[in-house]
Amino acid sequence: MAPGSLNAPAPPIAGRQTLRLLARRSLSPEVFELDLERPPGFRFLPGQRLRIREGGVERDYTIASGPGEGVLRILVRRVPGGSISPFLCEAPPGTAIAASGPHGYFVFAPAPRTPVFAATGVGIAPFRSMAASGVRGFVLFHGAGRAGGLFYREFLEPRAARYRGCLSRQAQPLPAGTRPGRVTDALREELAEGDYDFYLCGRGEMIAEALQVIDARFPRARVFTEPFS
Ligand SMILES: Cc1cc2nc3c(=O)[nH]c(=O)nc-3n(C[C@H](O)[C@H](O)[C@H](O)COP(=O)(O)OP(=O)(O)OC[C@H]3O[C@@H](n4cnc5c(N)ncnc54)[C@H](O)[C@@H]3O)c2cc1C
Repeated sequence: MAPGSLNAPAPPIAGRQTLRLLARRSLSPEVFELDLERPPGFRFLPGQRLRIREGGVERDYTIASGPGEGVLRILVRRVPGGSISPFLCEAPPGTAIAASGPHGYFVFAPAPRTPVFAATGVGIAPFRSMAASGVRGFVLFHGAGRAGGLFYREFLEPRAARYRGCLSRQAQPLPAGTRPGRVTDALREELAEGDYDFYLCGRGEMIAEALQVIDARFPRARVFTEPFS
């Protein structure tokens, strides 16, 4: 995709839609990948999200598939006792899911600077979508407890200029391409001086801590954030 077209306007779906659950796969004991039917004419920008409604409650889920893919794919981490995530992690294929969208402004802004993507857990979803749309040359730091939580590594690593999994609870020896500790440790220790565009997605604590590192080390940076909590 030509860089400029990434920022083409994506009109929202007219009103609320019902999306059929086509398939669900378990990526880890707590995280599931859901394929939802993509309505004809549904357009979105990589990084945007769906707002799902169930039982009078609404929650946002970022689209992990690319605009050129035939389904709307989301990653859902089960929050025990939650209003919506357990429903999504258990609903049988064929279930009708009420949703609106696309929503959000966490979209890729092409620039002559190196994009640095930093994610925790299911916060990898927008970066999978951006890479599927043709974004390349990014540095990616993905934080997880163990290597099994580095979702979409096989897809993202070949498309990245540099890929680093940051594992906080993995026993030694660590797999290739990973380091111990958190995403913010990697931001502090592994990036040379330079001009970067930072895209931060996932846990609010990670984003708050990453902003401190960026303020201290990269004062000319542009920063885009999408906290999930
Ligand atoms: C912009 C945006 C994008 C998002 N994208 C995704 C996504 O792609 N995938 C995804 O899985 N989630 C995503 N989320 C989070 C999602 O919207 C829900 O908040 C989450 O699934 C919990 O909803 P729930 O109704 O199951 O739990 P709730 O009923 O909201 O919460 C139940 C209990 O768990 C606590 N809780 C809520 N969230 C968490 C959490 N993350 N960790 C620990 N405790 C929690 C609550 O405080 C409450 O006590 C996103 C959130 C935002 C704001």
